Amino acid sequence: MISIMNALFMMDIMNKNLKACTMPARLRRQTMTSPSTALITGASSGIGATYADRLARRGHDLVLVARDQARMEALATRLRREANVAVDILPADLTVSADLARVEARLREDRRIGLLVNNAGAAAHGSFSEPDLDALEQLIRLNVTALTRLAGAAVPQFLAKGEGAIINLTSVVALAPEFPLGIYAATKAFVLTFSQSLQTELGPRGVYVQAVLPAATRTELWERSGRDVDSLQGVMEVGEMVDAALVGFDRRELVTLPSLPDAGQWETLNAARLAMLPNFGQTHAAARYRA
Ligand code: NAP
Repeated sequence: MISIMNALFMMDIMNKNLKACTMPARLRRQTMTSPSTALITGASSGIGATYADRLARRGHDLVLVARDQARMEALATRLRREANVAVDILPADLTVSADLARVEARLREDRRIGLLVNNAGAAAHGSFSEPDLDALEQLIRLNVTALTRLAGAAVPQFLAKGEGAIINLTSVVALAPEFPLGIYAATKAFVLTFSQSLQTELGPRGVYVQAVLPAATRTELWERSGRDVDSLQGVMEVGEMVDAALVGFDRRELVTLPSLPDAGQWETLNAARLAMLPNFGQTHAAARYRA
């Protein structure tokens, strides 16, 4: 038997989540009418550079983070001219502790920052049958450790202000370990679960966390991980993906799947998961495991 407290806790979570996936009205009212500064990681190309473009056009000042300073400077120059916003560049390799610490410090200390786009990421090379463990560790450092530490640096000042938002870039492969992408899928599953956990904890305190799950999107990620994007079917252009994700952001969706035609499929999966929660805590093993 589960305890009453356990049951109440589970029911509370279910009530908060079953309608899936949008935030309470108080948070929905936090629109982007008075834009804060947005710090975007992985802003030198692809999805991150596109978020930079769109957020600048919404009036956000920006802090761009990635390794390639020249590309960020070119983007910053264009956005200052076209969107008339302030753009700072913070070159950093997020797998290097000292660089990561500088970005964390910026998030902790710059109270103008109200939006973190946790986007920097890479895909894995190869399968796990002949693993390059050092390369896999680097991937985990970037996709998991850096993303987590940056969220951890931003949250205290967001909570102090009573508002703030984090966009975490995960992937549909978080839901599809069958796709042959090795531990990449596992890193993205971490980001999805981490985002959902933050939503439960921080949503009621004014911090909005969106998990974005793109499917294949035309960016350099594929070439960087040794794959040809043109060999894939159903590839979305990056501008369309980010624009759709921002529609989800404006609606205060918790989980945004830009390419999924029927949102009801996600809601069904989420409802099935939530229905299990009250049944997990038992003092005895399930009957099928008892001799
Ligand atoms: P991308 O064009 O390769 O962009 C990756 C960005 O991350 C670049 O700006 C890169 O900049 C930066 N980055 C890579 N390693 C870094 C490091 N060590 N330190 C700091 N920055 C680093 O790929 P993308 O598709 O836009 O990827 C963005 C996010 O979307 C990733 O998290 C990815 O997993 C996710 N996603 C992509 C797809 C897709 O099909 N494209 C699908 C689902 C999810 P520098 O090289 O200048 O450092």
